[in-house]
Amino acid sequence: MVAEGKGFINMNALELIKSEIRDLYPYKVDDTCCAIKLDANENPYPLPDELKDKVRDALSEVSLNRYPDPYAGELKCLISRWLSVSEDSLMLGNGSDELIQAILIATSWGSPTVVVPSPTFSMYKITGLAVGHRVLEIPLDESFDIDPAAIIDACRKERAKVIFLSTPNNPTGNRFSDDKVLEVVKGSHALVVVDEAYGDFSGKTLVPYLKENMNLIILRTLSKIGIAGLRVGIMAANPDLLNELDKVRLPYNINSLSQTAAAVVLNNMDAINGQIDAIIAERERVYRALKGLDGVSPYPSEANFILFKVRDADDLHKRLIEKGILIKNLNRAGRLENCMRVTVGTPAENDALLGAMRAIMSNE
Ligand code: PMP
Repeated sequence: MVAEGKGFINMNALELIKSEIRDLYPYKVDDTCCAIKLDANENPYPLPDELKDKVRDALSEVSLNRYPDPYAGELKCLISRWLSVSEDSLMLGNGSDELIQAILIATSWGSPTVVVPSPTFSMYKITGLAVGHRVLEIPLDESFDIDPAAIIDACRKERAKVIFLSTPNNPTGNRFSDDKVLEVVKGSHALVVVDEAYGDFSGKTLVPYLKENMNLIILRTLSKIGIAGLRVGIMAANPDLLNELDKVRLPYNINSLSQTAAAVVLNNMDAINGQIDAIIAERERVYRALKGLDGVSPYPSEANFILFKVRDADDLHKRLIEKGILIKNLNRAGRLENCMRVTVGTPAENDALLGAMRAIMSNE
């Protein structure tokens, strides 16, 4: 589409973009401004003042004229102790989103296929399609657990190279049964990525199974436990496999400020652990309160959010925004019809949510 004699003026530049990308629905972040923000699965508590001071002091020492440590050595060392994983089994990303992308890029050869359960975290599919994978979605069973036989079968038939299993699963909140996940790890030839982004709220992990399973990759993140702004994601895997995946990583992907601040936080985990405990206690309280509301059916959660079903999710979403409360509306045909996801907030935020829901529903 080049205009005669005039260079590229009339060219439709969009045609240069891969059709799979043009067909994509982008990952949507709701930027509606609300005083109470319970839509993004963040930790609602700021860092304690004492810890903030330590972070500020450490940041003031950073040489901003220099590139960051390309291997994020100090941070990796602290993470290796925190997760009880050797340093050579770790790769860090600019959020675990970047690690998901690295895995999908590294496996996007031949006619690549990625298998994901449905419903699950949408970035597996979005990034998979963007880098050229075919995406096979296998429905979760009636209790939102995986069907290992269906997953293994699909992998065999379609020669899938990667499977993503978010456990606890976003947005359903449940952990998949460990036995079923391990059945998939052992029964398929694909890389099985167990995404434990919410693992800190379940107190459980499959990290100990890394040693005996070369196709197992575990993802963690510092985002959900209180430092989402720093963008630090963690991948743990067999060191040989990791060496290959690391070739996809952009140099200096963790900036100096994030490396420094995250290291200070990891050296002071008591404060964060207290916040995690508070979030877990609130999760149980909010779950019980939601269960007591007429027309609301919450699903049990081991994460820092709760999925629930109502009669009219679109209406409730709109009316909560009017009251200054933002939660995630997941309403779409199928398993998530009239479902919403609320992040566990502070006790005051949770009380505000529950009070607003009671008021809205009593006027229904
Ligand atoms: N995995 C899951 C299951 C998630 O829900 C999220 C965040 N929504 C991520 C990964 C990405 O987290 P981050 O990039 O902040 O580490």
